[in-house]
Amino acid sequence: MNPQKHIQIAQLFIPSDAHILKGLLEAQDITVFMFDEGFSSLTPADAIAVGGIKIHVPFEQKEKAQQIVDKFYENLKEEDILKCSNCGSTNLKHDYIEHIKYGFINLISAFAGANASHGVRHYKKCLNCGYKN
Ligand SMILES: [Zn+2]
Repeated sequence: MNPQKHIQIAQLFIPSDAHILKGLLEAQDITVFMFDEGFSSLTPADAIAVGGIKIHVPFEQKEKAQQIVDKFYENLKEEDILKCSNCGSTNLKHDYIEHIKYGFINLISAFAGANASHGVRHYKKCLNCGYKN
């Protein structure tokens, strides 16, 4: 791998997010290089200390990859404003195992053109009432 020939397109602090993004890119035949993954898996504090997990792609695939990254971040933003549908609280805890299961299906479906925004987002637990959103 020649460091001159690829470029960083994303930086993530949550290993599961990095793996989802990697999977999305690879599904589009984009070569993915991940850096600092091992260290970032230790604790979130360590991940922040090294600047997170860096995702690089080859220069010639940058534009195609950037579109996927943009869509991926858009999805994360939507999740950030999610409220508990039971009590309306925004005090939701991310369930990473559920995130991997449902988030991945959701994102893949989105890229396949299917509307998967309903029924596959059960990976936030409300800390107020315990309801799984
Ligand atoms: Zn609730």
